[in-house]
Amino acid sequence: MARFRARPMSTFDVINPATESTIGSVASHSLEETDRVIEKAALAFESWRKVSPGDRARLLRRFADLVDTHQEELAQLEVANAGHTISNARWEAGNVRDVLNYYAGAPERHSGLQIPVEGGINVTFHEPLGVVGIIVPWNFPMPIASWGFAPALAAGNAVVLKPAEITPLSALRLGELALEAGLPEGVFNVITGSGSIVGWRFVTHEKVAKVCFTGSTDVGSRIMAGCADQVKRVTLELGGKSANVIFADTDIEMAASRAPGGVFDNAGQDCCARSRILVERSVYEKFLEHFESAVTGFVVGDPQLETTEMGPLVSDEQRRIVESYVPEGAPIAFQGNCPTGPGFWFPPTVLAPVSPTDRAVREEIFGPVVVVLPFEDEADAISIANNTPFGLSGSIWTENLGRALRVARGIDSGNLSVNSHSSVRYWTPFGGFKQSGIGRELGPDALDAFSDVKNVFISSES
Ligand code: NAD
Repeated sequence: MARFRARPMSTFDVINPATESTIGSVASHSLEETDRVIEKAALAFESWRKVSPGDRARLLRRFADLVDTHQEELAQLEVANAGHTISNARWEAGNVRDVLNYYAGAPERHSGLQIPVEGGINVTFHEPLGVVGIIVPWNFPMPIASWGFAPALAAGNAVVLKPAEITPLSALRLGELALEAGLPEGVFNVITGSGSIVGWRFVTHEKVAKVCFTGSTDVGSRIMAGCADQVKRVTLELGGKSANVIFADTDIEMAASRAPGGVFDNAGQDCCARSRILVERSVYEKFLEHFESAVTGFVVGDPQLETTEMGPLVSDEQRRIVESYVPEGAPIAFQGNCPTGPGFWFPPTVLAPVSPTDRAVREEIFGPVVVVLPFEDEADAISIANNTPFGLSGSIWTENLGRALRVARGIDSGNLSVNSHSSVRYWTPFGGFKQSGIGRELGPDALDAFSDVKNVFISSES
């Protein structure tokens, strides 16, 4: 891990959450160093914006190819640094490649309009914004970074990217691969450090034109307020408390067998985790019976093993937060297993019966803890699902297509799946309602969030 040692004034240790051993140390950059990187990006932007769309596309494809040839290395970094299961980590590195390839197709297609008007014509251009600051959380370090940097670069912006303090390794490696792919020096910069120094500087520095933030709602709302001072563009992808709504007409055994994957994937450290399971009352007991065998059979352990379905929590601090939602006397219906000994382990935990006012029902836990609540009918299901300040994701299990559509339209959430728990497909838009965020990432329109429209009138009369 020696290559991650810089000439830092200060550093922080990087810990393997499955073993608690220190696997490296990275620089905690100062305000002055952050300013230097932002200035460097601002300078690089002036040339990058002039690179032809075809050449920008070629460079992004080369970057994607290098991510592809380093997929296993990147995946191993994520297993070691974030405790992700190897199968998830391979998917995540593959997702970065796919997102880069997808947006490599965008620069040549990001054209404007021509609008005939009296006395001439108006043409529109999508102008890049400048330097885009991307702030990434620790739960999915690679994909979330790429959902920002790939479209930002494709649109002609320079990027400064700050990974989370505790999971910087894959982002640093992606920065190296970008250079190796031929992206000009200064166009894509990864800078490690604390949120309050490096991250906040993206908000206050006048040469950062946009902040693309993924993280907690608390920090996100402060970033939005800070950006308002300069009317700085901002995209926020924040927390969630999503519902998995199970109607009696679905195959209950199947819905129960799939429910653990919807909430315990990545040890529940997923903004889209379906952490509230709502079950139609007539099948509530039957669901719990099948759910118990699915939860107790969920394989928690060494993230290096391909058979493992859930690894450790990312840090001791995160484990303490999760534990606080399962105090002595908590209504634990049943729990799965997890290793003992070193590592930040927490077992899959099901809380029921619970009251709508319980903390575990209202707050984002960001760990492998799920609550199960009964509902009476469609209207009740929608009302409970919407009884949260969040609105990011959710699932609906029913064999009735009309009901699926009615409930999907009724739930105030940005990304819903019917008879599935999938949330993110890079060629479709992703983002939250209410306090889950503002703006959308991914999908065909992502470049619009990284550019401004310029409207030029050309007179035909002179
Ligand atoms: P966090 O808000 O604590 O930190 C996220 C990032 O912001 C980190 O890089 C951190 O260093 C930085 N940061 C912290 N304080 C800052 C400040 N004052 N100024 C600028 N940057 C600052 O979140 P976390 O604990 O790393 O991640 C978990 C949260 O992220 C959860 O709430 C989760 O739901 C959310 N999340 C949302 C999505 C989504 O797409 N909606 C995806 C993943 C995670």
